[in-house]
Amino acid sequence: MAQEDVFKKLVAHCKEYGFVFQSSEIYDGLSAVYDYAQMGVELKNNIKKYWWDSMVLLHENVVGIDSAIFMHPTIWKASGHVDAFNDPLIDNKDSKKRYRADVLIEDLMAKFEAKIDKEIAKAKKKFGESFDEEQFKATNPRVKANQEKIEAVHKRFVAALDKNDLEELKQIIIDNEIACPISGTKNWTDVRQFNLMFSTEMGSTADGSSKIYLRPETAQGIFVNYLNVQKTGRMKIPFGIAQIGKAFRNEIVARQFIFRMREFEQMEMQFFVRPGEEMKWFEKWKETRMSWHKALGFPEEKYRFHDHDKLAHYANAATDVEFKFPFGFKEVEGIHSRTDFDLSQHQEYCGKKIQYFDPELNKSYVPYVVETSIGVDRMFLQVISEAYTEEKIEKEDGKVDERVVLKLPAALAPVKLAVMPLTKKDSLPEKAREIINDLKFDFNCQYDEKDSIGKRYRRQDAIGTPFCVTVDHQSLEDNTVTIRYRDTMEQERVAIDQLYTILKKEVSLKELFKKLK
Ligand code: ATP
Repeated sequence: MAQEDVFKKLVAHCKEYGFVFQSSEIYDGLSAVYDYAQMGVELKNNIKKYWWDSMVLLHENVVGIDSAIFMHPTIWKASGHVDAFNDPLIDNKDSKKRYRADVLIEDLMAKFEAKIDKEIAKAKKKFGESFDEEQFKATNPRVKANQEKIEAVHKRFVAALDKNDLEELKQIIIDNEIACPISGTKNWTDVRQFNLMFSTEMGSTADGSSKIYLRPETAQGIFVNYLNVQKTGRMKIPFGIAQIGKAFRNEIVARQFIFRMREFEQMEMQFFVRPGEEMKWFEKWKETRMSWHKALGFPEEKYRFHDHDKLAHYANAATDVEFKFPFGFKEVEGIHSRTDFDLSQHQEYCGKKIQYFDPELNKSYVPYVVETSIGVDRMFLQVISEAYTEEKIEKEDGKVDERVVLKLPAALAPVKLAVMPLTKKDSLPEKAREIINDLKFDFNCQYDEKDSIGKRYRRQDAIGTPFCVTVDHQSLEDNTVTIRYRDTMEQERVAIDQLYTILKKEVSLKELFKKLK
């Protein structure tokens, strides 16, 4: 099945099973804004807890805060967002659709890359065991031609971004004959800059209201609290401040479901270090964060680092953790060495010293910062798109059955255990409730007595519940139940008092933490 079809099915699945709804759906929706539903919010909370605990519980020198969304407007002047938080946009005159010029060019390079991948896959199939990928890439004329195209576009693209040369961005689009996916024409406007911040008014106009912004990143809330946290927490450099919270960007192109939203959530951590030591910490956090991703057990080859083509105005090193979504490799997380830019700017704009006295060096300085910044929603999309599986199952009578199963890491699954009485009578429901009452303080449990057991299993598979137990007449006699495992669909008879231990081992975040480097 084509990857776009899989993605469409995933979006439909998210709605059907209560993970994600379009915002304001009864009013035909609000573009690029989404609501998390009863299952989605559980999965999202589990992702946030996995991140938060891995930062704050597992690192003695990382503490958390929760700063307000509204902040003093000068903060955004100091941070550079008022003047430079722009995307280059371009319109197609026929379809009247608006695009990000940089994204159009990146998509073109991704197309060449996809052609190379196709050639490699074909050759791999043909040559089997003896296939040497590196040699093939170096010698195959079609691969080499596409590689050269990528390099040529990339070189011009980086130079244009570096010089902020909007005319050249347009020229790259024209020279490469990039067409609008809607109208199919190459009738483009000039490229213009567009500021992504939402603004609103605070206070009544009569009193003289002031323009304030909805924060486009959570990081500034950490920077402006740096001194407060350092002093009250008696923090010694190196140390970090973590935060999870909403951010808002007036994205020009809002496509691909929850990948690019106008209201989204970030998990950010700013790590304050001695000037000159930032590269060491940049490497350290790259490794730590990649290990956090990989502990979830998804295929290794779906992850890669991608160094930025253009460094932001504040950075001296930056890389993205990219994941292979159904629509290709895309950024999930950014790791940036932000130098002392933000703290120095705030120091200048607020007129107060923002420094650290380092007792070992016996001097004061503005700390350098390494930041890790990941979108909760993109992480959610990564997890659910990787977990979504359509399977064909051979039944005993030779017929083929199908199931859709979310193979979620058990620690992230919204529901951990479904308890099902075989029938609605003979005290079986009471026995099932007894099990839930015992386990509900530790695990999110669901009771289900409707329809056949087979149908109930399918419903739980569709929301990714790792364990189902069935209570039958034997359970009343010997306190045992049948436990069924989601991925293997195997079943076994176990004592009810073993359930806690079986679940705890599989669904606890601790199991993921043990895998972290
Ligand atoms: P992109 O290049 O995709 O616009 P970015 O480089 O601007 O992303 P950052 O400013 O580094 O993103 O933000 C850190 C993280 O926040 C991203 O890696 C992503 O996971 C998340 N994020 C940023 N913008 C959005 C958005 N519009 N919707 C959902 N998540 C987002």
